[in-house]
Amino acid sequence: MRWKRVQSTDVIDERAGGGGLPGGRVAIPGGLGITGILIYLAISLLSGGGSSFAVDDPFGGATQAPGVQSPRGIPASQDPERDLKDFSVYVFERTQQTWEKTFREQGKPYEHAKLVLYRGGVQTGCGSATSAVGPFYCPADQRVYLDLSFYGDMQNQLGASGDFAWAYVIAHEMGHHVQQQLGTSDQVSQQQQDHPDQRNALSVRLELQADCYAGVWAKTVYKDLQPGDIDEAMNASRAVGDDRLQRQATGTVNPDTFTHGTSAQRSKWFSRGQQSGQPGDCDTFSGDV
Ligand SMILES: [Zn+2]
Repeated sequence: MRWKRVQSTDVIDERAGGGGLPGGRVAIPGGLGITGILIYLAISLLSGGGSSFAVDDPFGGATQAPGVQSPRGIPASQDPERDLKDFSVYVFERTQQTWEKTFREQGKPYEHAKLVLYRGGVQTGCGSATSAVGPFYCPADQRVYLDLSFYGDMQNQLGASGDFAWAYVIAHEMGHHVQQQLGTSDQVSQQQQDHPDQRNALSVRLELQADCYAGVWAKTVYKDLQPGDIDEAMNASRAVGDDRLQRQATGTVNPDTFTHGTSAQRSKWFSRGQQSGQPGDCDTFSGDV
């Protein structure tokens, strides 16, 4: 994807000693309830292989002495993740612009999402989280949380590489922001409370819609795409299918525990959004998915 460095007032860089958790590896799963954080990756992957996300920083970032406070943000000249950060900010800004425009055209109010870059652990409006959960969106504070080290994890452990695979991840999380703005996430949370037996099935539908919205966004930037970009996103959406993640982690597959959809479903809905470009074609809540 062709891109350029842009400034954004909606990005909070906490990588250099912001609101993270001490040590960065202290998991507090209590904050990860289904009505709170919508987790991008299936938990089964994490519990299936404890070490799978505890990787070394692929960019060899500097470590921070305990208790040392540093100003927010890392100077660009000293930032080993500079390009990845700037690309992420660019994609985030473009998704935000796209959705703001769409909402405006439909006469609906739109509140900006924020992007929080962190490293290791972070405090959110949905509780504490570590980067082990993967990129996620918290509806309570309307923020997308991104540990840039997931880029390397995605490539090395999920086999999803390329800049547009990464763009798909960010666009998917922004799809959750759209759902929050439209009230869809609240409705689904309510239905999940009313029908606990439908909890996972509803989660799958919500996630597939976020994939479809990511596809809708991909269509809007088609002029800036390069050969292979859509393939990268399609490959990434297959890589994070519940069936594939479970098989990879445990060797078996249990469809009742799916929360995000199969590889086939995820790539299908991304593709549908990408071909149509119309959010209205992303109705994953009626009929089969
Ligand atoms: Zn999601």
